[in-house]
Amino acid sequence: MKPLYVKVHPRDNVAIIVNAEGVPSGAAFDSGLHATENIPQSHKVTLTTLEKGAPIIRYGEVIGHALDEIGPGRWVREDMLSLPQAPPLDQLSLATRTAPPQETLEGYTFEGFRNTDGSCGTRNLLGITTTVQCVAPTVDYAVRKIETEILSRYPNVDGVVGITHSYGCGVAIDAPGAKVPIATLGHISRHANIAGDPLVVSLGCEKMQPSRLLPFFEPNVIRLQDNLGFQATIAAICEQAEKRLAILDQRRRTTIPASELNVGLQCGGSDAFSGVTCNPAVGYAADLLVRAGATLMFSEVTEVRDAIHLLTPRCADEATARKLIEEMHWYDEYLARGYSDRAANTTPGNKRGGLANIVEKALGSVAKAGSGTIHHVASHGEKVTAKGLVFAATPASDFICGTQQLASMNMHVFTTGEGSPYGLAMVPVVKVSSRTALAEKWPDLIDINAGAIATGQATIEDVGWQLFQYLLDSASGRKKTWAERWRLHNALAPFNPGPVT
Ligand code: CA
Repeated sequence: MKPLYVKVHPRDNVAIIVNAEGVPSGAAFDSGLHATENIPQSHKVTLTTLEKGAPIIRYGEVIGHALDEIGPGRWVREDMLSLPQAPPLDQLSLATRTAPPQETLEGYTFEGFRNTDGSCGTRNLLGITTTVQCVAPTVDYAVRKIETEILSRYPNVDGVVGITHSYGCGVAIDAPGAKVPIATLGHISRHANIAGDPLVVSLGCEKMQPSRLLPFFEPNVIRLQDNLGFQATIAAICEQAEKRLAILDQRRRTTIPASELNVGLQCGGSDAFSGVTCNPAVGYAADLLVRAGATLMFSEVTEVRDAIHLLTPRCADEATARKLIEEMHWYDEYLARGYSDRAANTTPGNKRGGLANIVEKALGSVAKAGSGTIHHVASHGEKVTAKGLVFAATPASDFICGTQQLASMNMHVFTTGEGSPYGLAMVPVVKVSSRTALAEKWPDLIDINAGAIATGQATIEDVGWQLFQYLLDSASGRKKTWAERWRLHNALAPFNPGPVT
């Protein structure tokens, strides 16, 4: 393969190297540029001379300033540029660039499960939720027993899930921050994929009593401290499970409009290609799904913060834009309380993948949100019921973001550049790779490869449509994601901004 780079925006004065092996010093690009040193894949090459202090521009935006003069054809490493200030939150334009309404996409459907509460499931699972971590191993034991001894009698049920977590006691449960994990776990406990109706296992003495986890719901509670020993508890859980499985087994998939999909979008292990290949393809699919009436959630506050000036103009109205700014403020203050800021986000893997700093990462991350209007902004722990493109505030941490999005979503898309085997027990997780090299290295973990976009062998539109169709197939149970096939179920990790006692 000849030496190749991708320049995203006409204003850019750096581009990223496409070749899997990188390019050697002296390599000649079609533009006439010569590499003046070895430059690895995903890393940036200067397209022109950058004076000391000159802005370094990628995606048409300033990602930093040159700390010294950098000649053309050089490898731009993270220590050669300064980190700009985050965009000030009091100087943003609000709802000034809403996208023109797009033609609706009619006739797209999936085969799913309609629930009595109006929600729609993509899987038919028995859910056993918990009020406290103390009971988690007991529930895990019961789940294994149900799987091996009971489940085969109920062939229309896709599986059984223990909704276990680290929350529930030893916390300041009346502190304002406690609302976030309690609401998140409450919504997950009534998830569409368990038909909104869980079994509940409680210890008895914990702070998060069943009535606090599920305030508007009277579930069947199995309380460990009421039972005569471990085996009696397991027998009680299995007895309740059988009753519930008999009901779930009667359910059948029916044709449901694509507008009932709620798709959570996030990235993990991003690289410099994420913003060029997988995230724009996901953004294209997001635009299509919005046109089909669905809900698309993008999240990860620290990966939105440095691109906020590009997002507030896209909000449907000023109130929505102000809500978005409020979420940025809240997180700035949350990080400041820990003597930190958004720059703490980037990982060694991000940097190995060519991302110099959080500004460059955020500009690539927001490509997942497509080009449409932002219709709604949700706070941490809020269940998203609005249609269209929604910013749902979450930390960027993969497992925490996934847990918070799970409160609302029935499908999940996860983009990755460095690679992650991430998966969830309750919803299909579709993994999209930024580079062909990763998809080839992990053929049994990556569901869709967006890497061909970088070499021109596929377009953003091609991969966007492929993902759109894959989501409908996977939602219908016609396709199983790799994470489902291997049963890769990351633990739930509720975000608890409140104090621990
Ligand atoms: Ca993430």
